[in-house]
Amino acid sequence: RYAFGCVILTPDGQEIRKSGSGSDSAGVAIRNVAGEMLGSMTAVNWAIENKYPAVEIRYDYEGVEKWVTGVWRAKTPLTSKYAAHMQEAGKKVLVLERRSHIGGNCYDEPDEHGILIHNYGPHIFHTGIEEVYQYLSRFTDWYVFGHEVVAKVGDRLIPVPFNLNTLHMVYEKEKADALEQKLIAAYGEGSRVPIMKLRENEDPDIREIAQFVYENVFLKYTMKQWGQKPEDISPEVTGRVPVLVSYDNRYFQDKYQGVPKEGFTPMFERMLDHENITVETGVDCKERLRFEENQIYFDGTPFDGEVIYTGALDELFDCQFGRLPYRSLRFDFEHYEKESYQGHSVVNYTVSEDFTRITEFKYLTGQKNTDGTTIVKEYPFAYTGAEGEIPYYAILEPKNQELYEKYRALAGGLPHFYLLGRLAEYKYYNIDAMTKKAMELADAIMAENTKR
Ligand code: UDP
Repeated sequence: RYAFGCVILTPDGQEIRKSGSGSDSAGVAIRNVAGEMLGSMTAVNWAIENKYPAVEIRYDYEGVEKWVTGVWRAKTPLTSKYAAHMQEAGKKVLVLERRSHIGGNCYDEPDEHGILIHNYGPHIFHTGIEEVYQYLSRFTDWYVFGHEVVAKVGDRLIPVPFNLNTLHMVYEKEKADALEQKLIAAYGEGSRVPIMKLRENEDPDIREIAQFVYENVFLKYTMKQWGQKPEDISPEVTGRVPVLVSYDNRYFQDKYQGVPKEGFTPMFERMLDHENITVETGVDCKERLRFEENQIYFDGTPFDGEVIYTGALDELFDCQFGRLPYRSLRFDFEHYEKESYQGHSVVNYTVSEDFTRITEFKYLTGQKNTDGTTIVKEYPFAYTGAEGEIPYYAILEPKNQELYEKYRALAGGLPHFYLLGRLAEYKYYNIDAMTKKAMELADAIMAENTKR
């Protein structure tokens, strides 16, 4: 066993004594420290229950503070549980969600045939960022797979991103071998070359490959997706799908990739399942929040806590400088009473059709024993702000960025007001980058709080 005793001194002169003990083996193994951690948690819990806004802890072992502030990394299950408890203690979070469900565009649910679908288009998690993977893994196991995409070009399905396998499919052997050597000599084995860079190469043979890829993979798809040619959109966008000088058919090269084993929605449910977190769906935050002369009002009273806004920034300010442009999508779901529709999770239509791609969900989620199969076709269009339309993609152009900055300036003076996400930041984030940004913001808020 290990035990603690603590004396709590209140500002009005009361002296409260508490003591307790534990007998779990992890605690017993470090019993002098375990007692101090238990005593500190008891004092903090008591202060919260009795509505004291702050508590000053006098302790002996420096880990009692340093694990919580993050100066020391809490490495064992016991110390990290302690750190999490102390960091989360007393912090209350209210999530206001305009839609009728949580999870944003990652939301997934079984359709009427029992097939798990991604209601807002295919979402595949992929990351090389260890802490993002570890963090999300607290809330889910994974269905792990190397995501592969093929493009329908004429009667053929060719691997995308265009890679050395694709090269050997579209050119006869001798030519393909020669081109492979040229690509390796120019860029190095395993390199990732954005199509717009490849097109600048001075070697006519490499430019021929670039032209093939441009015409058969990028031009029509990009025209559908953005209403613009590849050369007229931000290179960041086409750069997401570079030409790969390797035989790797995967769409992403990140170490971790897959989807949450039971779906994204259960992962978010577990994330939000905390006694200090309240979720209200079907609530527009503008019904509850008001901004006046750099003061935030919540339900009519001044609010000094942190507000993290993840919606479209122009809408928050009634689009007073005009709407921020976005691309939207219409999703057409179709169900077929057959085992398989296309045999692939995603087929891109890069030279024909009005839709950009077809996703067949069972190949994306790993769902077994389904009754039939469900697919979705994506039809892009320009977002107008009309009722029911959803802004999916910011359009990364200097003039749009300038307009965004005008809105950001309006938000700039609000204390403890943070913008986070694709919409609020007007950025093209992947799930992992977004998770990292959210983790960094949470850390920054925690650090700011310990100072406040
Ligand atoms: N793209 C393309 N053809 C393809 C795949 C991608 O032209 O077969 C271009 C297109 O402009 C697209 C961009 O590359 O918008 C980024 O593709 P990604 O698959 O990353 O788009 P997302 O899945 O985010 O819609």
